[in-house]
Amino acid sequence: MGKQENLELYIHIPFCKKKCAYCDFLSAPATEMMQEQYVHCLLAEIKEKAPFYANYQISTIFIGGGTPSILRAGFILDIMEAVHRAFHVKKDAEVTLECNPKTISFEKLLFYQKAGINRISIGLQSTENAELKELGRIHTYEDFLESYDLIRKSGFSNVNIDLMSALPYQTLKSYEKTLQRVLQLRPEHISAYSLIIEEGTPFYEKYESDEILREQGKIPEALPSEETERTMYEMTKELLKQHGYFRYEISNYAKKGYECEHNIGYWTRENYLGLGLGSASLVEEKRFSNTRELKKYLSGDFTIENQEILNKNARIEEFMFLGLRLTKGVSQAQFLNQFGLSIENVYGKVLTKLQREGLLAKKDGRIFLTEQGLDVSNYVMAQFLLD
Ligand code: SF4
Repeated sequence: MGKQENLELYIHIPFCKKKCAYCDFLSAPATEMMQEQYVHCLLAEIKEKAPFYANYQISTIFIGGGTPSILRAGFILDIMEAVHRAFHVKKDAEVTLECNPKTISFEKLLFYQKAGINRISIGLQSTENAELKELGRIHTYEDFLESYDLIRKSGFSNVNIDLMSALPYQTLKSYEKTLQRVLQLRPEHISAYSLIIEEGTPFYEKYESDEILREQGKIPEALPSEETERTMYEMTKELLKQHGYFRYEISNYAKKGYECEHNIGYWTRENYLGLGLGSASLVEEKRFSNTRELKKYLSGDFTIENQEILNKNARIEEFMFLGLRLTKGVSQAQFLNQFGLSIENVYGKVLTKLQREGLLAKKDGRIFLTEQGLDVSNYVMAQFLLD
């Protein structure tokens, strides 16, 4: 048998106890019966689709949501057993499960271990209870501490904590407190994003729909100013660096050797297969996704939708947009190898311009954004659009 290509697996669990006020992910509350029906369908989908990927080996698995830990623990075991039966999973595969405080117990965590989960990602967002309440989260900081303690006691040694900045009523002081408290817990990985208020969420109604304010270029008072938001961003970089976290992507920091393999796979355009409601895939330059309609999915209809075969320009753009999110940037040799053209050939002028502006640098066959470049990544990425 020849060398097997890697394939990453994403499994979506679209359920949450309660919808957070800022959330636009595909997730909603559901009865236990519906959750059971969903897992049943997921198992059927795994069985149905795996034979098409017999030539691949699964390098990472990410069970995300939603809140996968809302499911009865036995379901996670069922899902993982089905994956192992149907796919060829690498022995050292990184297997992450997303969870939220107040949805896990010691028993559940032991089940996860048994199921082969070796990385836990937990959503905290803030350690200020007033901020958590405003976000519509189901937990307090104390609930989180209880869950985090259980995660450690049950033996997990690879844990990510999700944080958010630019929250309503958040101040520099309260954000710093959140960072300091989280650093005391020494997680292996920290994701720190700033809040983006998406249309269609209760937060949008509350904070973004005021047209007069928007026309005047003002933001509602509850939200931190752009300047405060920028200072929070700088504070994240500084404090995390001081505590030995390596920034390997715009918003992701890790202790050495604990970078999230699964997400690195997205940014380096590895093949990945999404299973479950609404999940997206990229396999051999084909992007496609599952239905976002729960009713359809629960009827056992797993046909793929929105299939798009990426042309060369789209692939080149993605290679740059995604790869430059990583602090190590992109490899010139890989570019040449994948597209049969040198990177200078395609982007010579852009590279020179960005280098002159101090936003991009070249070293040891790699092209990467400088610290200043990462700070204005939206501007930089826009330069890599091809006509
Ligand atoms: S827990 Fe996460 S996925 Fe669920 S509603 Fe809140 S933000 Fe959305």
